Amino acid sequence: MKSDIHPDYADTSIKCACGNIIEVGSTKKDIRVEICSNCHPFYTGKQKLVDTAGRIDRFRKKYEKFDKEKNNK
Ligand SMILES: [Zn+2]
Repeated sequence: MKSDIHPDYADTSIKCACGNIIEVGSTKKDIRVEICSNCHPFYTGKQKLVDTAGRIDRFRKKYEKFDKEKNNK
């Protein structure tokens, strides 16, 4: 392995917004992420959605109506 053509590879910790710290090997130092495998809803199973535009409510209302129409038939 040629030492002069490889970037510095060192132990780095990725810090997530949830407080989780993941130890990895990387050429970058002090990586920060907003979501990780520890806090992502897919892994936690919890719903943690940021619904600023009310899109989810609109979606639910739309399908509530759909269900009612279906039951009336
Ligand atoms: Zn996280």
